[in-house]
Amino acid sequence: MPAKILDGAQLAQTMQVEMKAEVEELLRQGRPRPGLAAVLVGTDPASQVYVKNKCLACEKVGIQSFKKELPEQTTQAELLALVEELNRDPAVHGILVQLPLPKHIDTLAVIRKISPLKDVDGMGPESTGLLAAGTPRFLPCTPAGVQQLLVRNGIDVTGWHAVIIGRSNIVGKPLALMLLRDAADGNATVTVCHTRTGWSPQTGKVDIEKLQALTRQADLLVAAAGRTPKLITADWIKPGAVVVDVGIHRLAPKKLCGDVDFDSVKEVASTITPVPGGVGPMTITMLLRNTIASARAFL
Ligand code: NAD
Repeated sequence: MPAKILDGAQLAQTMQVEMKAEVEELLRQGRPRPGLAAVLVGTDPASQVYVKNKCLACEKVGIQSFKKELPEQTTQAELLALVEELNRDPAVHGILVQLPLPKHIDTLAVIRKISPLKDVDGMGPESTGLLAAGTPRFLPCTPAGVQQLLVRNGIDVTGWHAVIIGRSNIVGKPLALMLLRDAADGNATVTVCHTRTGWSPQTGKVDIEKLQALTRQADLLVAAAGRTPKLITADWIKPGAVVVDVGIHRLAPKKLCGDVDFDSVKEVASTITPVPGGVGPMTITMLLRNTIASARAFL
Protein backbone atom coordinates (compact mmCIF):
# COMPACT_ATOMS: atom_id res chain seq x y z
CA MET A 1 0.00 0.00 0.00
CA PRO A 2 1.46 3.41 -0.91
CA ALA A 3 2.55 5.59 2.00
CA LYS A 4 0.41 8.17 3.71
CA ILE A 5 1.50 11.64 2.59
CA LEU A 6 2.25 14.26 5.25
CA ASP A 7 0.82 17.45 3.79
CA GLY A 8 2.94 20.35 5.11
CA ALA A 9 1.11 22.94 3.02
CA GLN A 10 -2.21 21.98 4.59
CA LEU A 11 -0.82 21.87 8.13
CA ALA A 12 0.91 25.25 7.65
CA GLN A 13 -2.42 26.68 6.54
CA THR A 14 -4.22 25.23 9.58
CA MET A 15 -1.57 26.51 11.97
CA GLN A 16 -1.64 29.98 10.44
CA VAL A 17 -5.41 30.17 10.94
CA GLU A 18 -4.85 29.21 14.60
CA MET A 19 -2.14 31.85 14.96
CA LYS A 20 -4.35 34.55 13.45
CA ALA A 21 -6.93 33.82 16.15
CA GLU A 22 -4.18 33.88 18.77
CA VAL A 23 -2.95 37.31 17.62
CA GLU A 24 -6.52 38.66 17.57
CA GLU A 25 -7.00 37.42 21.12
CA LEU A 26 -3.79 39.18 22.22
CA LEU A 27 -5.01 42.43 20.66
CA ARG A 28 -8.43 42.05 22.32
CA GLN A 29 -6.61 41.85 25.64
CA GLY A 30 -4.97 45.19 24.81
CA ARG A 31 -1.55 43.64 24.23
CA PRO A 32 0.78 44.98 21.53
CA ARG A 33 0.76 43.42 18.08
CA PRO A 34 3.65 40.93 17.61
CA GLY A 35 6.34 42.35 15.30
CA LEU A 36 9.02 40.73 13.16
CA ALA A 37 11.92 42.63 11.59
CA ALA A 38 13.33 41.00 8.44
CA VAL A 39 16.75 42.29 7.42
CA LEU A 40 17.95 41.80 3.86
CA VAL A 41 21.39 42.92 2.69
CA GLY A 42 21.98 43.05 -1.06
CA THR A 43 19.85 41.98 -3.99
CA ASP A 44 20.12 38.18 -4.14
CA PRO A 45 16.88 37.22 -5.94
CA ALA A 46 16.25 34.06 -3.88
CA SER A 47 16.75 35.98 -0.61
CA GLN A 48 14.41 38.71 -1.84
CA VAL A 49 11.70 36.08 -2.46
CA TYR A 50 12.26 34.46 0.95
CA VAL A 51 11.97 37.80 2.78
CA LYS A 52 8.93 38.81 0.77
CA ASN A 53 7.21 35.48 1.57
CA LYS A 54 8.04 35.81 5.26
CA CYS A 55 6.56 39.32 5.37
CA LEU A 56 3.44 38.17 3.49
CA ALA A 57 2.97 35.29 5.93
CA CYS A 58 3.28 37.76 8.82
CA GLU A 59 0.51 39.88 7.30
CA LYS A 60 -1.73 36.83 6.95
CA VAL A 61 -1.67 36.11 10.68
CA GLY A 62 -1.64 39.73 11.85
CA ILE A 63 2.05 40.02 12.80
CA GLN A 64 3.51 43.42 11.92
CA SER A 65 6.54 43.01 9.68
CA PHE A 66 9.35 45.54 9.37
CA LYS A 67 11.31 44.95 6.18
CA LYS A 68 14.81 46.45 6.36
CA GLU A 69 16.53 46.39 2.99
CA LEU A 70 20.16 47.45 2.90
CA PRO A 71 22.49 47.82 -0.09
CA GLU A 72 25.12 45.19 -0.90
CA GLN A 73 27.95 47.53 0.17
CA THR A 74 26.55 47.97 3.71
CA THR A 75 29.42 47.71 6.18
CA GLN A 76 29.48 45.30 9.06
CA ALA A 77 29.37 48.23 11.51
CA GLU A 78 26.24 49.60 9.82
CA LEU A 79 24.52 46.21 9.95
CA LEU A 80 25.44 45.67 13.59
CA ALA A 81 24.10 49.16 14.39
CA LEU A 82 20.77 48.30 12.72
CA VAL A 83 20.51 45.04 14.68
CA GLU A 84 21.22 46.96 17.88
CA GLU A 85 18.50 49.45 17.01
CA LEU A 86 16.04 46.56 16.43
CA ASN A 87 17.13 44.94 19.70
CA ARG A 88 15.97 48.11 21.47
CA ASP A 89 12.77 48.65 19.48
CA PRO A 90 9.78 47.59 21.66
CA ALA A 91 7.58 47.01 18.57
CA VAL A 92 10.00 44.32 17.33
CA HIS A 93 9.73 40.94 19.05
CA GLY A 94 11.66 38.91 16.53
CA ILE A 95 14.67 39.67 14.31
CA LEU A 96 15.48 37.67 11.23
CA VAL A 97 18.65 38.38 9.25
CA GLN A 98 18.32 36.68 5.89
CA LEU A 99 21.34 34.55 4.99
CA PRO A 100 23.63 34.38 3.14
CA LEU A 101 25.11 37.79 3.89
CA PRO A 102 27.61 39.41 1.51
CA LYS A 103 31.13 37.96 1.85
CA HIS A 104 32.63 41.02 3.53
CA ILE A 105 30.30 40.61 6.52
CA ASP A 106 31.03 38.27 9.43
CA THR A 107 27.76 36.30 9.63
CA LEU A 108 28.48 34.88 13.07
CA ALA A 109 29.11 38.34 14.53
CA VAL A 110 25.74 39.52 13.18
CA ILE A 111 23.86 36.48 14.51
CA ARG A 112 25.53 36.96 17.90
CA LYS A 113 24.45 40.60 17.96
CA ILE A 114 20.74 39.66 17.85
CA SER A 115 19.22 39.82 21.32
CA PRO A 116 18.70 36.21 22.52
CA LEU A 117 15.16 37.28 23.47
CA LYS A 118 14.43 38.19 19.83
CA ASP A 119 16.34 35.34 18.14
CA VAL A 120 13.24 33.84 16.52
CA ASP A 121 15.35 32.02 13.93
CA GLY A 122 16.86 30.10 16.83
CA MET A 123 20.37 30.30 15.40
CA GLY A 124 22.20 32.36 18.05
CA PRO A 125 24.52 30.86 20.67
CA GLU A 126 22.05 31.22 23.55
CA SER A 127 19.22 29.56 21.60
CA THR A 128 21.60 26.79 20.56
CA GLY A 129 22.90 26.32 24.10
CA LEU A 130 19.41 26.20 25.59
CA LEU A 131 18.39 23.56 23.06
CA ALA A 132 21.52 21.51 23.79
CA ALA A 133 20.68 21.74 27.51
CA GLY A 134 17.22 20.36 26.79
CA THR A 135 15.44 23.62 27.72
CA PRO A 136 14.88 25.38 24.37
CA ARG A 137 13.52 28.91 24.01
CA PHE A 138 13.30 29.38 20.24
CA LEU A 139 13.67 26.27 18.11
CA PRO A 140 15.30 26.68 14.68
CA CYS A 141 12.44 26.87 12.19
CA THR A 142 13.09 24.00 9.77
CA PRO A 143 13.67 21.24 12.36
CA ALA A 144 10.77 22.65 14.40
CA GLY A 145 8.64 22.32 11.27
CA VAL A 146 9.70 18.67 10.88
CA GLN A 147 8.79 17.96 14.49
CA GLN A 148 5.40 19.67 14.18
CA LEU A 149 4.61 17.65 11.06
CA LEU A 150 5.19 14.50 13.09
CA VAL A 151 3.38 15.60 16.25
CA ARG A 152 0.35 17.05 14.50
CA ASN A 153 -0.04 13.85 12.50
CA GLY A 154 -0.03 11.75 15.66
CA ILE A 155 3.42 10.26 15.05
CA ASP A 156 5.07 9.49 18.40
CA VAL A 157 8.80 8.81 18.01
CA THR A 158 9.33 7.57 21.56
CA GLY A 159 11.69 4.60 21.46
CA TRP A 160 12.18 4.91 17.72
CA HIS A 161 15.49 4.87 15.94
CA ALA A 162 15.65 8.18 14.10
CA VAL A 163 18.35 8.48 11.44
CA ILE A 164 19.14 11.96 10.13
CA ILE A 165 21.24 12.47 7.01
CA GLY A 166 22.93 15.84 7.46
CA ARG A 167 24.66 17.54 10.39
CA SER A 168 24.23 21.22 9.55
CA ASN A 169 23.64 23.80 12.28
CA ILE A 170 20.39 24.81 10.61
CA VAL A 171 18.75 21.38 10.15
CA GLY A 172 20.44 18.10 11.13
CA LYS A 173 22.16 19.01 14.39
CA PRO A 174 19.27 20.88 16.05
CA LEU A 175 16.79 18.23 14.87
CA ALA A 176 18.94 15.55 16.51
CA LEU A 177 18.84 17.49 19.79
CA MET A 178 15.07 17.94 19.51
CA LEU A 179 14.34 14.27 18.84
CA LEU A 180 16.66 13.28 21.70
CA ARG A 181 14.92 15.45 24.30
CA ASP A 182 13.18 13.80 27.20
CA ALA A 183 9.87 15.30 26.12
CA ALA A 184 6.57 14.20 24.62
CA ASP A 185 7.83 15.04 21.11
CA GLY A 186 11.28 13.48 21.66
CA ASN A 187 12.70 10.35 23.27
CA ALA A 188 14.01 8.86 20.04
CA THR A 189 17.40 7.19 19.73
CA VAL A 190 19.19 9.33 17.17
CA THR A 191 21.90 8.62 14.62
CA VAL A 192 23.29 11.53 12.62
CA CYS A 193 24.96 10.72 9.30
CA HIS A 194 27.16 13.01 7.23
CA THR A 195 29.58 13.06 4.32
CA ARG A 196 32.13 10.95 6.19
CA THR A 197 29.69 8.27 7.37
CA GLY A 198 31.08 4.98 6.04
CA TRP A 199 34.50 6.54 5.43
CA SER A 200 37.38 4.08 5.14
CA PRO A 201 40.94 5.33 5.70
CA GLN A 202 42.17 2.25 3.81
CA THR A 203 40.36 3.06 0.58
CA GLY A 204 40.14 6.81 1.15
CA LYS A 205 36.50 6.55 0.11
CA VAL A 206 33.04 6.48 1.58
CA ASP A 207 31.31 3.12 1.42
CA ILE A 208 27.71 4.10 0.73
CA GLU A 209 26.52 0.66 1.83
CA LYS A 210 27.50 1.57 5.40
CA LEU A 211 25.23 4.61 5.20
CA GLN A 212 22.46 2.48 3.72
CA ALA A 213 22.89 -0.10 6.52
CA LEU A 214 22.09 2.72 8.97
CA THR A 215 19.15 4.16 7.04
CA ARG A 216 17.64 0.65 6.78
CA GLN A 217 17.46 0.59 10.58
CA ALA A 218 15.52 3.86 10.71
CA ASP A 219 11.97 3.96 12.02
CA LEU A 220 12.17 7.65 11.15
CA LEU A 221 14.48 8.75 8.34
CA VAL A 222 15.07 12.47 7.84
CA ALA A 223 16.95 13.42 4.69
CA ALA A 224 18.70 16.80 4.85
CA ALA A 225 21.75 16.33 2.64
CA GLY A 226 20.91 18.63 -0.25
CA ARG A 227 23.64 17.38 -2.62
CA THR A 228 22.08 14.80 -4.94
CA PRO A 229 18.46 14.88 -6.12
CA LYS A 230 16.51 11.69 -5.31
CA LEU A 231 19.61 10.08 -3.74
CA ILE A 232 17.56 7.94 -1.36
CA THR A 233 15.74 5.13 -3.11
CA ALA A 234 13.42 2.37 -1.86
CA ASP A 235 16.31 0.02 -1.02
CA TRP A 236 17.57 2.49 1.64
CA ILE A 237 14.29 2.24 3.59
CA LYS A 238 13.06 -0.08 6.31
CA PRO A 239 9.55 -1.21 5.33
CA GLY A 240 6.95 0.86 7.20
CA ALA A 241 9.36 3.69 8.08
CA VAL A 242 8.35 7.35 8.28
CA VAL A 243 10.40 9.36 5.77
CA VAL A 244 10.78 13.14 5.99
CA ASP A 245 12.50 14.92 3.11
CA VAL A 246 14.03 18.30 3.93
CA GLY A 247 16.19 18.51 0.80
CA ILE A 248 15.31 20.87 -2.03
CA HIS A 249 16.66 20.58 -5.56
CA ARG A 250 15.55 22.62 -8.54
CA LEU A 251 15.34 20.32 -11.58
CA ALA A 252 13.81 22.98 -13.83
CA PRO A 253 12.50 26.54 -13.27
CA LYS A 254 9.22 25.26 -11.82
CA LYS A 255 10.16 21.69 -10.92
CA LEU A 256 11.47 20.87 -7.46
CA CYS A 257 12.39 17.55 -5.89
CA GLY A 258 13.97 16.39 -2.65
CA ASP A 259 16.76 14.09 -1.48
CA VAL A 260 14.28 11.22 -1.56
CA ASP A 261 13.10 9.39 -4.65
CA PHE A 262 9.46 9.93 -3.74
CA ASP A 263 7.95 7.54 -6.31
CA SER A 264 9.92 4.46 -5.25
CA VAL A 265 10.13 5.24 -1.51
CA LYS A 266 6.38 5.79 -1.13
CA GLU A 267 5.89 2.11 -2.00
CA VAL A 268 7.98 0.99 1.01
CA ALA A 269 7.50 3.69 3.66
CA SER A 270 4.35 3.99 5.78
CA THR A 271 4.43 7.78 5.69
CA ILE A 272 6.32 10.32 3.58
CA THR A 273 6.60 14.07 3.01
CA PRO A 274 6.46 15.40 -0.55
CA VAL A 275 8.71 18.07 -2.08
CA PRO A 276 7.34 20.65 -2.58
CA GLY A 277 4.52 20.87 -0.05
CA GLY A 278 6.13 19.00 2.84
CA VAL A 279 8.67 20.57 5.19
CA GLY A 280 9.07 23.82 3.20
CA PRO A 281 5.76 25.51 4.12
CA MET A 282 6.27 24.54 7.77
CA THR A 283 9.51 26.53 8.08
CA ILE A 284 7.91 29.98 7.72
CA THR A 285 5.05 28.88 9.97
CA MET A 286 7.51 28.09 12.76
CA LEU A 287 9.06 31.55 12.36
CA LEU A 288 5.62 33.08 12.92
CA ARG A 289 5.06 30.84 15.91
CA ASN A 290 8.38 31.88 17.48
CA THR A 291 7.55 35.55 16.91
CA ILE A 292 4.19 35.24 18.66
CA ALA A 293 5.84 33.32 21.52
CA SER A 294 8.43 36.07 21.80
CA ALA A 295 5.75 38.78 21.92
CA ARG A 296 3.99 36.86 24.69
CA ALA A 297 7.24 36.48 26.65
CA PHE A 298 7.87 40.25 26.43
CA LEU A 299 4.57 40.84 28.18
P1 NAD B 1 24.29 21.82 4.35
O1 NAD B 1 25.01 21.71 3.05
O2 NAD B 1 24.69 22.88 5.31
O3 NAD B 1 24.40 20.43 5.11
C1 NAD B 1 24.18 19.22 4.45
C2 NAD B 1 24.62 18.09 5.34
O4 NAD B 1 24.37 16.87 4.69
C3 NAD B 1 26.08 18.12 5.69
O5 NAD B 1 26.19 17.95 7.10
C4 NAD B 1 26.69 16.92 4.98
O6 NAD B 1 27.69 16.29 5.76
C5 NAD B 1 25.51 16.02 4.77
N1 NAD B 1 25.56 15.28 3.50
C6 NAD B 1 25.58 15.79 2.26
N2 NAD B 1 25.59 14.81 1.34
C7 NAD B 1 25.62 13.64 2.02
C8 NAD B 1 25.66 12.27 1.64
N3 NAD B 1 25.70 11.89 0.37
N4 NAD B 1 25.67 11.35 2.61
C9 NAD B 1 25.64 11.70 3.92
N5 NAD B 1 25.60 12.99 4.34
C10 NAD B 1 25.59 13.94 3.40
O7 NAD B 1 22.75 21.94 3.98
P2 NAD B 1 21.48 22.40 4.88
O8 NAD B 1 21.47 23.87 4.99
O9 NAD B 1 21.41 21.57 6.11
O10 NAD B 1 20.30 21.97 3.88
C11 NAD B 1 20.12 20.64 3.48
C12 NAD B 1 19.03 20.56 2.44
O11 NAD B 1 17.82 21.01 3.04
C13 NAD B 1 19.23 21.48 1.23
O12 NAD B 1 18.69 20.86 0.10
C14 NAD B 1 18.44 22.72 1.58
O13 NAD B 1 17.99 23.41 0.42
C15 NAD B 1 17.28 22.09 2.31
N6 NAD B 1 16.65 23.00 3.26
C16 NAD B 1 15.29 23.07 3.21
C17 NAD B 1 14.63 23.89 4.09
C18 NAD B 1 13.15 23.96 4.03
O14 NAD B 1 12.54 24.86 4.57
N7 NAD B 1 12.49 22.97 3.41
C19 NAD B 1 15.33 24.67 5.03
C20 NAD B 1 16.71 24.52 5.09
C21 NAD B 1 17.37 23.68 4.20
